[in-house]
Amino acid sequence: MNSSPRVRFAPSPTGHLHIGNARTAILNWLFARHSGGTFILRIEDTDLERSTKESEASIFQDLRWLGLDWDEGPDAGGAFGPYRQSERLAIYHQHGQQLIASGHAYYCYCTPAELEARREAALKAGQTPHYDGRCKKLSPEARAAKEQAGIKPGVRFAMPEKNITFKDLAKGEIAFPPEALGDFVILRSDGAPTYNYAAVVDDHLMQITHVIRGDDHVVNTPKQIMIYEAFGWPLPQFCHIPLILGPDRERLSKRHGATSVDEYASKGYLPDALINFLSLLGWSSVSGEEILSRERLIEEFSFERLSNAAAIFDVVKLNWMNGVYIRNMNLDELTAACLPYLQKAGFPDMSGPDHETLEKMVGLVRDGLEYLSQIAEKLEFFFADEVHITDGVAMGMSQTDAAEKVYWSFLRQLDKYDRLTAEVFRQLIKTITKETGVMGRDLWMPIRIALTGQMHGPDLPMVVEIFGKEKCRKFVQRLVE
Ligand code: GLU
Repeated sequence: MNSSPRVRFAPSPTGHLHIGNARTAILNWLFARHSGGTFILRIEDTDLERSTKESEASIFQDLRWLGLDWDEGPDAGGAFGPYRQSERLAIYHQHGQQLIASGHAYYCYCTPAELEARREAALKAGQTPHYDGRCKKLSPEARAAKEQAGIKPGVRFAMPEKNITFKDLAKGEIAFPPEALGDFVILRSDGAPTYNYAAVVDDHLMQITHVIRGDDHVVNTPKQIMIYEAFGWPLPQFCHIPLILGPDRERLSKRHGATSVDEYASKGYLPDALINFLSLLGWSSVSGEEILSRERLIEEFSFERLSNAAAIFDVVKLNWMNGVYIRNMNLDELTAACLPYLQKAGFPDMSGPDHETLEKMVGLVRDGLEYLSQIAEKLEFFFADEVHITDGVAMGMSQTDAAEKVYWSFLRQLDKYDRLTAEVFRQLIKTITKETGVMGRDLWMPIRIALTGQMHGPDLPMVVEIFGKEKCRKFVQRLVE
């Protein structure tokens, strides 16, 4: 058998790619790329009511956006396909027959209504409801009668009651006491396989060596291990990674903000930053460094560095990290990446001859950017036709008479220059100080407020240069008139 690792990411296409699932995909991918193994994408779409083609397409798109590539999958092909469970029904049925023949599974004719009634009775009696195994004991005659009556059976796995232990790569030894879990359905009466069964059949046939998934699946593992045993198949290595929690230590949900990859993509997070951030949820590098490129993540990945503790999703840290990646971009690259957000916010088109000015603007505000969609609010003041000065900001101009002096002097000086560049503005400031005796903050602040309506903002000489002479004059004049 091939000894290089084969791992899979197996999403159910019932919605967008969740951040937690993306982390699972990333860790699988990192391990595959680190070890020269194979990364497989398998679509678990047997829940026909909840699975949609749109979800599948959006999961593909989000994985591609993250820059994850898979070696085998529905679109990529491979020697172990098909890679969509809905296209593997014959395989599940055939293996179901095998389990029935070996006595590890049996037909069950109980109807949903019967099962529900028994479940309720068990709950009423204070018992944990599970299947009582009655169809296992059906005589051939009784079975024939059910068939005669046209009842379509499901297939149940005969779950042995025994100690089950396995060594988890993230959690160490996990032991399950011989608890009655009940015989569970592996094939529904409509022919659809259930998750635990289909996953095992596929993981075996696809020669998966390591099952890396969220630890919400730990509870499923004993059932899956029993299915492997029933078939006489070797177990893969299991690795259950801790769930991602919100800052309140509750399971990450909508309540905590955006939870799907596409929401982060559309807000303007960078795929490299998200890969970096999600990799560090439950995993750490030997050096303790936080900013790690894909290459370094691949190089350094190891199961030993996986943490056993729940990972907290800290959006403040994500924003910081994304900001670092934004600042590492070339300015022209960053400007191009900002264009769609500006377009969407209704800014004038600056992809043409004004591109250089736009680049200057972006360069001025890039340090404060946490994600790209913020660019619109950061650049808004450059495009405003007039400035609205709130009372709070007006109060920031402590000395109004000094401000007036500054404005008049500024207007007078302005006429002496053809073009107002950052350099000219610095000259001008000196002259204004000479003329008025006002200096420092008392000089800069009124000008900043007149031009931007804000008390804080990017480098004023550069702002002035971008505004240009006429616009500066207009905005200042308005205040003294
Ligand atoms: N379809 C399952 C899920 O999305 C896969 C779990 C597994 O990796 O076994 O949770």
